Amino acid sequence: MSFIIERLLAWVNRRYGKKKSLPDELKDYFDEEKYAKMEAYRKERASFSLFSSTLSTGIMLVLLAFGGFGWLDSELRQVTQHYIWLPLLYFGVLGLSADLLSLPLQVYDTFILEERYGFNRTSTKTFFLDKVKGYLLGAIFGGAVLALLVWLVRELGNDFWWVFWIVITLFSLFMSFFYTSWLLPLFNQLSPLQAGSLRDKLEAYGRGIGYPLDKIFVVDGSKRSSRANAFFSGFGSRKKVVLYDTLIEGTSDEELVAVLAHEIGHYKKKHINNGIIMSVIQTGLILYLASLLIYNGTLSGALGAGQWSLHVNLIGFSVLLSPLTGILGLLSNYISRKNEFQADRFATSTYRAEPLGTALKKLATDNYENLHPHPVYVFCYYSHPPLLRRLRAINEAV
Ligand SMILES: [Zn+2]
Repeated sequence: MSFIIERLLAWVNRRYGKKKSLPDELKDYFDEEKYAKMEAYRKERASFSLFSSTLSTGIMLVLLAFGGFGWLDSELRQVTQHYIWLPLLYFGVLGLSADLLSLPLQVYDTFILEERYGFNRTSTKTFFLDKVKGYLLGAIFGGAVLALLVWLVRELGNDFWWVFWIVITLFSLFMSFFYTSWLLPLFNQLSPLQAGSLRDKLEAYGRGIGYPLDKIFVVDGSKRSSRANAFFSGFGSRKKVVLYDTLIEGTSDEELVAVLAHEIGHYKKKHINNGIIMSVIQTGLILYLASLLIYNGTLSGALGAGQWSLHVNLIGFSVLLSPLTGILGLLSNYISRKNEFQADRFATSTYRAEPLGTALKKLATDNYENLHPHPVYVFCYYSHPPLLRRLRAINEAV
């Protein structure tokens, strides 16, 4: 059902964009050749996403209709019956097969589609190493969290949900606290921003608004892609600003200060804290709902299992939950778009509108962002408002 709605919206969105021409605000950023290339890229992306989502929905439907999840459970029970090892093995096998099945698609996406339009900078070595590191981290952290869940379900019965809620909240706060010091360096190289005019301007802006910017880092995003980004990480005194080298490459100092002012806006307007609170509440709600369903024997049976089995029920639960996660996704996108406007306003009022506008134009056009998405499509999927709406809001604020 959601698959049909999704494809319908994608189709409406494509038709909507076709009728529009290049807006005046962006005439300086495109020549005819670049505009045609962008159209071609977007068309190829759309076909690729149609193909991959049809494939994954098809596989999921077959597995559900023919009791594939239950069948895997019975097979693995011949390997181990242990209450912790069995679910670990079950999700390990499922996760690994899903990733290996989608591997050809991932390779096509990175080395053919993105490559053809000049976005890809990933070497085969980086791609392979990323996979290995991803598997290892997934096995260690995913395995630990799953083992804990299974153990709590067995020891505490129905009360498992709030204990697990507390532990998982502490764990994710801990992880985001150490993200830039432990996790990010496993995949990227992080170095302090060199002294110079950019650093001076960023620090001067920070002092002006009472937000000390002494931990500014540059990360080698260019190792994987030409796409640019910037983000904040950590809390309190451990807070760090991380800029992609690809962002520094193509933008002026003033544009970078404006981008950073926008990011600080998210912090000052409490978007970051509110986001954390929202996700903690969401996790609690989902875990409570899980506590109502995971002991249900019929659910395992419906997925083809011969007996009640926690891990099969978790799969069933995630399928039943998808309408709710869809609604929560709409809500969080709505809030996120409002926050983007607020952060833009913060940047224009504490810095300047003009460099923020040009930075946004550069980023959007370099990434071949859709300039004319359908409003309904934006409502459903966009976490950021479309470029032209942001530019209009920035100009109105001045
Ligand atoms: Zn933002």
